[in-house]
Amino acid sequence: MAEIISGKIVSEKLRLELRDEIAEFKNTNGRAPGLAVIMVGNNPASMVYVRNKHKACLDVGIESYQIEFPEDITEDQLLSKIDELNADERVNGILVQLPLPSGISEERVIERISPEKDVDAFHPSNVGRIMIGNYSFLPCTPAGIISLLDHYKVEISGKRCAVVGRSNIVGKPMALLLTERNGTVTLCHSRTKNLDMILRESDIIVVAIGKAEFLRADMVKPGAVVIDVGINRTSDGKLVGDVAFGEVSQVASMITPVPGGVGPMTITTLLRNTLLAAKMQFLKRK
Ligand code: NAP
Repeated sequence: MAEIISGKIVSEKLRLELRDEIAEFKNTNGRAPGLAVIMVGNNPASMVYVRNKHKACLDVGIESYQIEFPEDITEDQLLSKIDELNADERVNGILVQLPLPSGISEERVIERISPEKDVDAFHPSNVGRIMIGNYSFLPCTPAGIISLLDHYKVEISGKRCAVVGRSNIVGKPMALLLTERNGTVTLCHSRTKNLDMILRESDIIVVAIGKAEFLRADMVKPGAVVIDVGINRTSDGKLVGDVAFGEVSQVASMITPVPGGVGPMTITTLLRNTLLAAKMQFLKRK
């Protein structure tokens, strides 16, 4: 039976440390770091994510500004709000909850956020910086996964890693970060041929495709480390990952559960990025 890599436990530990660092930051600078989260419309999943981020901010002492807009807001109205937040010294991090309603360009919205407040690290200039290894922020989910692997002392260097899914927010940056840590990475997607074969040769597998229980035991090399990013709701309302946890945990040496694996680490990294942004902005103003 595989050892459970618990994002919940690691997150709790990291958030305790963050709480102290944020209290110290507040003592020194007279103000807590601030995170503004913008939500447009009432997508139920987004509402849950935004609420969780708000609660996590309060928990560690970050000032949380929740901004909600109706579905029919225009792109110009949204962009002006971002301009306002870019200029607001109380706000150190800005996050726009995706997806946005059709008719609003996610690309233009993300590009409008000042790169120094882009705590999701989605702005093209931050993405470019990650590519060349000269970055301030890392995207929350892949960076959270690297923290988890470090915490459980999983050696990445020299290991064969497979990342399944090539989204801009998870798969692609995950492949870059594993490469930076000297893993030998195969980035797989829906057109990958012989996926089973690639996976069976991999020491570390990260799955981020959004397909319930896609990864089965016979696709995993005995002893591999399996990281499940997926969040899927089954027809009976159960939350499951992209990995068939029951059977894969009989083959893998370590595995993340859903929930309680990658999810909490994503939010913890967002909190860390917000503190980092606040520190950099205060230093710049001095
Ligand atoms: P996405 O934008 O939904 O894209 C899915 C990716 O999976 C695409 O690259 C697609 O390939 C690939 N894919 C789909 N079916 C496949 C298959 N049968 N075989 C191989 N590859 C396949 O991805 P995402 O936004 O990264 O989200 C993925 C999952 O992670 C979702 O369940 C999401 O809710 C979850 N998520 C969780 C967190 C967290 O904090 N836990 C954070 C972000 C996302 P193509 O490019 O070829 O179409």
